[in-house]
Amino acid sequence: MHCSKFPLFRLRQLLLVALLTTCFGVSTVLAPTRVAAQNLPVLGDADRAALSPIMERKVGEEVMRDIRRDPDYLNDGPLLEYLNDFGNTLVAARPAVRGEANFNFFFFAIRDPVLNAFALPGGFIGVHSGLLLAAQSESELASVLAHEIGHVTQRHLARMLGQQKNDSMIALASMLLGALAMRGSGDAGAAIMMGGTGFAMQRQLSFSRDAEREADRIGVAILGEGGFETTGMVAFFGRLQAASRNYSDAIPPYLLTHPLTTERIADIEARIRDQRYRQRSDSLDFQLIRARARVLQDSSEKGLRDAQLIFENQLRLNIKPQTVAAKYGMAFVALKQRAYEKAERLLKEANAAAAPDKPSLVLTDLGIEIKSAANQTGEALKSVTAALDQFPLSRSMAHQYANALIANKQPAQATVYLREQAQLYRQDADIQDLLAKAYAAQGKQALQHMALAESYALMGSLPAAIIQLDIARKAPDAQFYEQAVIDARERELKERWKDEQADAKDR
Ligand SMILES: [Zn+2]
Repeated sequence: MHCSKFPLFRLRQLLLVALLTTCFGVSTVLAPTRVAAQNLPVLGDADRAALSPIMERKVGEEVMRDIRRDPDYLNDGPLLEYLNDFGNTLVAARPAVRGEANFNFFFFAIRDPVLNAFALPGGFIGVHSGLLLAAQSESELASVLAHEIGHVTQRHLARMLGQQKNDSMIALASMLLGALAMRGSGDAGAAIMMGGTGFAMQRQLSFSRDAEREADRIGVAILGEGGFETTGMVAFFGRLQAASRNYSDAIPPYLLTHPLTTERIADIEARIRDQRYRQRSDSLDFQLIRARARVLQDSSEKGLRDAQLIFENQLRLNIKPQTVAAKYGMAFVALKQRAYEKAERLLKEANAAAAPDKPSLVLTDLGIEIKSAANQTGEALKSVTAALDQFPLSRSMAHQYANALIANKQPAQATVYLREQAQLYRQDADIQDLLAKAYAAQGKQALQHMALAESYALMGSLPAAIIQLDIARKAPDAQFYEQAVIDARERELKERWKDEQADAKDR
C-alpha cells in the first residue's frame, strides 16, 4: 500500500531550530498557569511543572506547520470540515473540556493505513485515514476523538513536556517527532528515538496508566452527554487490540502511545454501566467521508482500482447509506482518473439514491469539484453559488466559492467576498491565502504580501509574517496609505513576537 514517509530528518531539524528559538534561555522559575483551573481534577501537584497554555499552543503550532507541509497531510476541504464539525460537537457536548487552557480544537487527518490517532500540544488532534476506515460508526470514531480530547483537557502533554529538564527541550522535540514517526512501520520512529536520547525517551512517549484512565473518564462523559453509544468505545478499543495481533513485528502505534490494558477496558465498562443504552444513527456524511478517505488514502492507479472493487462489493449489500457512499466513492475514483463524464453520471446516481434525505454537503461538494476539474468554470461557479445558499455556514464551501470566482477570471469579485469573509472569520488563514491569490491575479503585489503576512500570523509564524510585510513595503505598487498600514501592522506583530519571547523565558 502507498505510504510515503514523513520527511523526518528535515522535520526534526526544523523543529529543533524552532524550539531553540522559542525556548532558549528557559529559566527554572515556572510561572503559575495563567488561567485558574476550573472544577477539573488535576493529576497530583505535577501541574506546577506544566507548560503554560500559551507555550503549549506555540509548540503545537510549530509541529502543525510542518505537518501541514507534509504531502501526507490531507488538506481536503470536505474531510477537514466533517472532522472539525464532528470533533467540535464532541467538545461542545461537555463545554468544561475546554478546561483551563481554553484551546480552540483543530482536527485533521493524515494519509496512513495504520490505525492511529494522536493529540499534539495545544488542542491539535490528528487521525489516520486508516482509523477513519476502521471505525464502523460515528460512536466509534467519537470514542477515539473524545479520548484524545481528554488528554488535551487534562493537559497530559503539557505536563509531560513541562517536566523535561531545562536542557532537554530538545528531548521534547525528539519525543514529539518520535511519536509522529511511529506512524507507518514504526521502524523509523524507533530508530530516531534510539538515536536520540535512548530508551528513556521511548518510555516517556506513552501516557501513564493514570493519564489513560483520566482520558477515558473524560471520553466516556463526552460520549454520554453527546448522545453517542458508549459501548462503541469498548467495541472499538477491543478491535484495536485484536488488530494488534495481525502486526507481527510491532505493537500498533495507538496502543503504544495509549497502553490498553485489560484493567483499562474493565474500567471503561464499569463507567458505561451507569449510562443508559442508546442507539444512534450515523449521518450520511460519515459514510461519504469514509468513502472519500478510502480514495485519498491511496490514489495510485492500483489504489484506485482496489477502492473501486471495495465500492462494488459495498453496492451488493443493498443498504441505503452504503449504496450512496459506494456510488459517491466510485464517482470520486472516476474524478481522480479524470473520467469527468463518468464521475458526473455516478454522482447523479448517488444523489438519486440519497433522496429524499436532506442535501449533503459532501455530495454537493463533489459536483463542484468535478466541474472545476473539467474546466467548466462557469458551471462550477453556478453550482457553488447555489450551494452557498444551502450551506451558508460551510467554510469549505466559502473557500470553493472564492476559488471558483478566481478560476472564472473574476478576481475583483473574489476580493470583495474574501474581505467580507475575513471580517467575519478572523481566524481563517485559508481566507487570507485565497485573498493573496485573488490579489496576485490582479497584479496587486503589496496587498498580496500583506494578505500572506496575515495568513502566517494566523498560523502562529510571526517572523514569517514580518518578512512578508517587508516584501509588501518594497513592492512597486505600495502607495503611501499601504505603507502606513504596513508600518502599523509591523509594529503590532513585532510587539507580539517580543511578548512571546518573554513568555518562552518564564513559561
Ligand atoms: Zn490515550
